Amino acid sequence: MPRPIEARIHPRALTHNLARARACAPDARVWAVVKANAYGHGVERVFDALRGADGFALLDLAEAERLRALDWRGPILLLEGCFEPRDLELCSRLGLWHVVHCTEQIDWLAAHKTHTPHRVFLKLNSGMNRLGFRPQAFRAAWARLNVLPQVEEISLVTHFSDADGPRGIAHQLAAWAEATADLPGERSLSNSAATLRFAQDAGVRADWVRAGIMSYGGVPDFPEHDMAHWDLQPAMTLRSKLLAVQDLQPGDTVGYGSRFTAEAPLRIGVVACGYADGYPRHCPTGTPVLVDGVRTRTVGRVSMDMLTVDLGPVPQARMGSEVTLWGHGPGGSVLGIDEVAQAAGTIGYELMCAVAPRVPVVVDGD
Ligand SMILES: *Cc1c(COP(=O)(O)O)cnc(C)c1O
Repeated sequence: MPRPIEARIHPRALTHNLARARACAPDARVWAVVKANAYGHGVERVFDALRGADGFALLDLAEAERLRALDWRGPILLLEGCFEPRDLELCSRLGLWHVVHCTEQIDWLAAHKTHTPHRVFLKLNSGMNRLGFRPQAFRAAWARLNVLPQVEEISLVTHFSDADGPRGIAHQLAAWAEATADLPGERSLSNSAATLRFAQDAGVRADWVRAGIMSYGGVPDFPEHDMAHWDLQPAMTLRSKLLAVQDLQPGDTVGYGSRFTAEAPLRIGVVACGYADGYPRHCPTGTPVLVDGVRTRTVGRVSMDMLTVDLGPVPQARMGSEVTLWGHGPGGSVLGIDEVAQAAGTIGYELMCAVAPRVPVVVDGD
């Protein structure tokens, strides 16, 4: 028998969450962002549920090839554009749209021989200071692209650093407005956080929104808001079972480093899930977890293949009881991945992307 751990992907949740992105930006088109192998869910596993999107955005050319292999004929956008000149050949062959964020990428285009001119998304660095042309250089970059026979259409794109937080997007919107004012072309600014929080503003939703984490049911501005607030559903469940039960006496400790000491008699369960499955080792005692759909907490250190949970709230639990590390539990129970991530000092994005290859993945309905 394999270990009882598995990750489940929920296509209906994906479709629901994508519809939420549409509802937030009704007159915009929606990119389903499927980079990092669809945030760890698997490009092939999410494809059917997300094919109602207007396009797919990602950054790995091999993932773009996988989408075309699924017979996706619609738009695909490379969010970081080309990494080297010969990537342009693949863009030509597969009809990929690509971001142009630096002078070198324009040089490569100018030297590229293609029969089919490309659609490019010229990126403004409006304050994130990762990729993109600074406002003073933006117009010149646009003018250069505009005269290239290799370029068919120029769209404009930027990315927010603080759409999920207190700084907000006003400073970047101001830089964007000034740099793009009289340039033609479709526009895309918003990630999930901006789509959820600011897309009432037509200038923010623009022509295309880029829905990443929200498509998977992650809450970009947790804990300010939660899944219920934004009406999102987890698209991934990580679940396992109890391998063993221990009855602790006062003074007994649990696991490596004896990080937890029972103060009173305590029943604990040992779960077949550890950091080698992608469950964060940083999760301290008290991290939320569901046993038989009942909310309880982890106790002691997470080890490579196991972790331990307090069975106080679940007296009926026994070997084989179902454990939900995040996502959907039995009886309609739900544990948000963002809660677990917060306990580990990180964000849901990282947990989704880090589920280990050894964890078998099952798609609901298959
Ligand atoms: C990852 C990414 C997104 C999606 O971000 P979420 O916060 O997951 O919605 C959008 N745009 C760019 C450029 C990205 O790299």
